[in-house]
Amino acid sequence: MADVKYVFVTGGVASSLGKGIISASLAKLLQARGYSVTIQKLDPYINVDPGTLNPYEHGECYVTLDGAETDLDLGHYERFLNAPTSQANNVTTGRIYQTVINKERKGDYLGKTVQVIPHITDEIKRRIKLLGSGNKYDIVITEIGGTVGDIESLPYIESVRQLKWEMGSQNCLVIHLTLVPYLSASGELKTKPTQHSVKVLLENGIQPDVLVLRTERNLTADIKRKVALFCNVEEGAVVQSVDVSTIYEVPLKMLEEKLDLTVIGKLRLSAETEPQLTAWREFISRLKNPKHSVKVGLIGKYVELPDAYKSISESFIHSGAMNECQVNVEYIHSEDITEENVDEKLKGLKGILVAPGFGSRGIEGKIITVRYARENNIPFLGICLGMQCAVVEFARNVLHFEGAHSTEINHKTRYPVIDLMEEQKSVIDKGGTMRLGGYKCIISKDSLAYEAYGKTEIIERHRHRYEFNDRFYDDFKNNGMIPVGVNPESNLVEIVEIPSHKWFVGVQFHPEYSSTVINPHPLFVNFIRACID
Ligand code: GLN
Repeated sequence: MADVKYVFVTGGVASSLGKGIISASLAKLLQARGYSVTIQKLDPYINVDPGTLNPYEHGECYVTLDGAETDLDLGHYERFLNAPTSQANNVTTGRIYQTVINKERKGDYLGKTVQVIPHITDEIKRRIKLLGSGNKYDIVITEIGGTVGDIESLPYIESVRQLKWEMGSQNCLVIHLTLVPYLSASGELKTKPTQHSVKVLLENGIQPDVLVLRTERNLTADIKRKVALFCNVEEGAVVQSVDVSTIYEVPLKMLEEKLDLTVIGKLRLSAETEPQLTAWREFISRLKNPKHSVKVGLIGKYVELPDAYKSISESFIHSGAMNECQVNVEYIHSEDITEENVDEKLKGLKGILVAPGFGSRGIEGKIITVRYARENNIPFLGICLGMQCAVVEFARNVLHFEGAHSTEINHKTRYPVIDLMEEQKSVIDKGGTMRLGGYKCIISKDSLAYEAYGKTEIIERHRHRYEFNDRFYDDFKNNGMIPVGVNPESNLVEIVEIPSHKWFVGVQFHPEYSSTVINPHPLFVNFIRACID
């Protein structure tokens, strides 16, 4: 097999320009040409992983099949590529330092002073090359988090410089993403921030090979030429990325800009196969030409920051397109919902999703929401904490277990219908210690879940410590809330349903993590179908 090719994506001028989407779009185009591609995200913060970060800090924590708690960009990678990522696809400064310090304690560097260069940079390089080993991929795209010039990014930029030098320009290239702002007062697009940002890269020893310029307006050939000249980049390697209405259009825009061809040319790869994007284009066409529209409520407590529910909102887009339906998601704060105002707050919703979460804030609002959905026969999907709220609500209002709760919120309740998992009882550390990643679930045939999946054995991703307390199994089952999905090894309840309701499903796992453009998640697809009906 030929050498693995490495593409690095750095960012300048401002954060949030969409390096993740550009990386995923390039990967999509290369994949569509028959290459095997993976994407890695290097995050410069010192947390070992984002699992301990509040969603307000960093958006959603995305969970991979192998149980890694990762940056939400990995969600984009999977949604675009329809291929799983793993722990190796997300590395933080915390993890790098942890590895180096553990090695130092073991005596691996005995006698040496351990330093950022070469020890930290060597560990960064090892993590980058790890994905390229094992003959799995033709191309590894590595996105460097943060913005060039940040103190935290320096060791990463230095590692990229070294790898470029070691591997040569045919095997390794750098794409730098910047912003070309439009100044309405003077009616001009400005390239100076891009020039400065490239200068910062040059000061660190890296000449970028390709520039992707984010812009609100189309760039003229003159502007592109000017950027090419001043930034020392070939004219064809200056690519614009104009704002579009959906991120899923970005691959097609990058195709128009020939970003894939530029990269292929520089890496001396073959461009013989034309990109196969039929299914992708069909998805975009369905997305843009809906026949129906529904309003669905997402009830959570991090609603001020929609990134906190990124995978859920993207799952609505995939499943909406599948149903030729525009899903208008109304983000509703569970803290604002009371017995008195619930009618007012939730009226007009065709479906209700109660979101995952941790802790007591906003929990009563979620439970009131479930009751509203159950009593008014509104299609309901409860995810993780959302499912747990559905169990608590049923216990309180149907089984009349007064004060029933999850012991996460009230550890003294007489009816602990949701309780800490046995294996969690001795856990003290918070980081990486939940029940994480893919676990099996066996589904009974007469269920909405079976109708959706069309099979009895599934694997879904998890991120929780509490579970349905099977002490109460019969109470629920005999009174109309049926555990229809169970883990075959541990017997943990994974799915509950209310057959007398129009469409009521609670899942302990996170279906949103595995919904992709090409494979919208079946539970979301059927949930939206029920909302349309
Ligand atoms: N806090 C709940 C638990 O730990 C639910 C977690 C979640 O919604 N991801 O079990």
